[in-house]
Amino acid sequence: MREFAYQRATRVREALVAGDDDGRYLGGGTNLVDLMKNGVEAPARLVDVRFLPLDGVRETPDGGLVIGATTTNSDAAADPAVRRRFPALSQAVLAGASGQLRNMATVGGNLLQRTRCAYFTDSSQPCNKRVPGSGCAAIAGEHHNHAILGWSPHCVATHPSDMAVALAAFDAVVHYETLEGAGELPLSEFYLPVGDTPQRETALPPGALITAVTLPTSAVFPRSRYRKVRERASYAFATVSVAAALDVHNGAVRDVRIALGGVASRPWRALAAENVLRGGPATAERFLAAADAALAAAEPLRDNGYKVTLARNLIAAVLTELAEETER
Ligand SMILES: Cc1cc2nc3c(=O)[nH]c(=O)nc-3n(C[C@H](O)[C@H](O)[C@H](O)COP(=O)(O)OP(=O)(O)OC[C@H]3O[C@@H](n4cnc5c(N)ncnc54)[C@H](O)[C@@H]3O)c2cc1C
Ligand code: SF4
Repeated sequence: MREFAYQRATRVREALVAGDDDGRYLGGGTNLVDLMKNGVEAPARLVDVRFLPLDGVRETPDGGLVIGATTTNSDAAADPAVRRRFPALSQAVLAGASGQLRNMATVGGNLLQRTRCAYFTDSSQPCNKRVPGSGCAAIAGEHHNHAILGWSPHCVATHPSDMAVALAAFDAVVHYETLEGAGELPLSEFYLPVGDTPQRETALPPGALITAVTLPTSAVFPRSRYRKVRERASYAFATVSVAAALDVHNGAVRDVRIALGGVASRPWRALAAENVLRGGPATAERFLAAADAALAAAEPLRDNGYKVTLARNLIAAVLTELAEETER
């Protein structure tokens, strides 16, 4: 492991200056430190951001929420406004990792955690994400839990965050600071398509410090749910997950949001499925038609075709549960 300096920042500008030029921001360290131990990351300096005034959840005058970037996953999930108004977000965070990890992990760090593709952390194997241009060992190798949507021949890995899937369904916006000023990115633009640069995962400018995530308000968001299928009951990343919100009135869909996890290099917003449902009848048949629309572009790899069936059934099941609840 390369020697590194540690610096604790208490002001945003201090963090930005220290984070520039071969420094990395340290949230809970639950992903970054692991990557440093196995040599994937080798920063000269860690800038601890947990003492910045970026902690906590607050409501905005227009009814939205601001979640500070250093808020722990546990605190974000337990916040009463998150639980009441964005239940799928609280459920998604609680579906991730373990209690101890969630107590350490931060919102900013969760968004930027790296893929769990086994070849990414194995320096004896080719991996375009770790060493651009070296190849992708997963395409011919072990890929049963890799992407079925939006992958490229350069990388077929999935994004591991549960929280980001719920944020995608809720039209969240990521706010950041750089030495040149503040900026923001809707979650739909935050993660980049894989293309031929899988090593570039987000549209954040170099050295950007995530300061907060904001959530707008909508009548459909409180009627939401996150369901995650995984290989063990806890402490495992998603095989397939669904964040959905559904508002049904007199048997018709007034509004709907659907995002998928475990299927692509980024949280996958299923806009085509939402369009199939909006304004139409809330029936089992329509829910399956929406699932088919969500997966129409799926291109499974040799060993992960099962994910298409799994995602189809999970989307339909979550929508059915939500429809039964909202009509009650
Ligand atoms: C065994 C295990 C199981 C897990 N299971 C799940 C799971 O099922 N679902 C899930 O979603 N997650 C899971 N996690 C991931 C865990 O939730 C993440 O490790 C965690 O969210 C990362 O947060 P952190 O604050 O520790 O990030 P760190 O490890 O500190 O940082 C991660 C990255 O974010 C950058 N960073 C941190 N804060 C900022 C900031 N404010 N601005 C800019 N960059 C920043 C760092 O420089 C680094 O590149 C698991 C982790 C482990 C170890
Ligand atoms: S899928 Fe992506 S992360 Fe995994 S080996 Fe291929 S390039 Fe690397």
